[in-house]
Amino acid sequence: MRVSILASGSTGNTSLIETSQHKILMDAGLSGKKIQSLLAKIGVDINDIDMIFLSHDHSDHSKGLGVLLRRYPQMDAFTNSGTWKYLNKTQKIGKLPVEQVNIIEPGQTKTFGDLDVTAFATSHDAAEPQYYVFTSDGKRMVFLTDTGYVSQRVKSVITDADAYLMEFNYDDMMLRNGPYSWSLKHRILSDVGHLSNVEAGEALLDVVSNKTEHIFLAHRSQHNNTAKLAYQAAKQILVNGDACLPSDVKIIMTDSEEPTDLIQI
Ligand SMILES: [Zn+2]
Ligand SMILES: [Zn+2]
Repeated sequence: MRVSILASGSTGNTSLIETSQHKILMDAGLSGKKIQSLLAKIGVDINDIDMIFLSHDHSDHSKGLGVLLRRYPQMDAFTNSGTWKYLNKTQKIGKLPVEQVNIIEPGQTKTFGDLDVTAFATSHDAAEPQYYVFTSDGKRMVFLTDTGYVSQRVKSVITDADAYLMEFNYDDMMLRNGPYSWSLKHRILSDVGHLSNVEAGEALLDVVSNKTEHIFLAHRSQHNNTAKLAYQAAKQILVNGDACLPSDVKIIMTDSEEPTDLIQI
């Protein structure tokens, strides 16, 4: 399996996952045009994308989904029925072509040739948020952002993976002392908000293993975090702590504008 985090952050999230049989997008939270140009940057033609998995209805994850489905009839989209119901009711991403809308509920695993996808519920203030574990050719990669905390139930699903994309959203001090209103700070800090650098590092500490080779730090806040602080927290908790990680584990920063390399998992 090969992965590139095309864009990550509150301005929009989308990633490419490639197996021998599929090229899929995880979330589509930028305009269709922008997603097309991000894919082109890593040499992938948008016409080759055959599936999109959606985590939740927030615009930074769903913005381009309607456009892409209407423009590219070969794309099948997957999320749970609660999220589809909400998107249909609000029409926030326009009319969705019924024949391209598919359901994967939290707790379900679906197989698509050489790819297994497992959905699990998260804790976030959206209609019915969920994230995914992608498994292909014996390798597992977990995607988890936009969650207020990581429950034991989630940890049991995501434990012992080869790669993690994890939300390192905010530095606690920067958020508390930063420009956001108290109500917004309260939302982010709550159990249905986002993970701080320390919360993310500590959750990872419980699930990583000596199989884990790649950790992508994702969904970094522009106002309440820096790449340096997120990296330092991850490094301090995971590498200098007592995590049983391989010594050459790669901690990879993601960006809101620049795709990462296409990385073999
Ligand atoms: Zn988000
Ligand atoms: Zn969200």
